[in-house]
Amino acid sequence: MGDMTSHTSAVETRPTAPVSGRVAVVGNGPVGQTAALLLARWGVPVVLLDRRRQRDAIGSKAICQQRDVLDTWETVGAGRRIADEGVTWTTARTFHRDRELFAYTLADHGRSSFPPFVNVSQARTEEILDERIAAQPLIETRWGREVTGVTQDADGVTLHCARTTEREGPGGRPEPGRRPATIRSSTCASQ
Ligand SMILES: Cc1cc2nc3c(=O)[nH]c(=O)nc-3n(C[C@H](O)[C@H](O)[C@H](O)COP(=O)(O)OP(=O)(O)OC[C@H]3O[C@@H](n4cnc5c(N)ncnc54)[C@H](O)[C@@H]3O)c2cc1C
Repeated sequence: MGDMTSHTSAVETRPTAPVSGRVAVVGNGPVGQTAALLLARWGVPVVLLDRRRQRDAIGSKAICQQRDVLDTWETVGAGRRIADEGVTWTTARTFHRDRELFAYTLADHGRSSFPPFVNVSQARTEEILDERIAAQPLIETRWGREVTGVTQDADGVTLHCARTTEREGPGGRPEPGRRPATIRSSTCASQ
């Protein structure tokens, strides 16, 4: 990932070769969000699919974000915001009732400007990443699409959704002529 002390140049890095095609990312959780943002950062168009209808901001879920993750998020413009909103800690203490069993301190920042860990709710993390996705024209987000299978041949990749099918050619564009007409109104893109 390169030198993380230079976040600005990391964000501005672009591939030298032209990018063709589009990548489907299945799952719009933090990992899928991050994958989509990183691909888009490299100029790769992305369609981000999730079987859920919308975000369900329930529970604490993943509340502990490690420094290397913050570094990665910073390359897509989210790391500093998440780090600043989170609670920073460097020492982990494990207790049994009121007795401390052991503790360890993570003080070395290495070349990163971020702390070893921050605590922030997964819902808030997803919200911030969603803002970055909304600002990224190369990412198209589609909720309510359950991917049930993927097939590939020489001409392209077909994603099979629970109720829908969408086919793309090598250039990432839908191929209407290759799709059965009956799925025109029920592709992943519509519904
Ligand atoms: C109740 C609960 C408590 C948790 N507590 C903690 C905690 O304290 N600390 C911690 O670190 N972690 C915790 N976790 C785990 C944390 O939520 C996960 O590590 C994190 O969400 C993983 O992110 P992800 O993007 O990989 O997966 P997810 O957030 O699960 O996202 C995956 C997405 O993929 C979608 N999907 C899956 N299959 C398909 C398909 N076929 N087609 C389309 N979409 C699909 C799903 O709908 C989902 O939105 C908890 C989880 C739960 C449920």
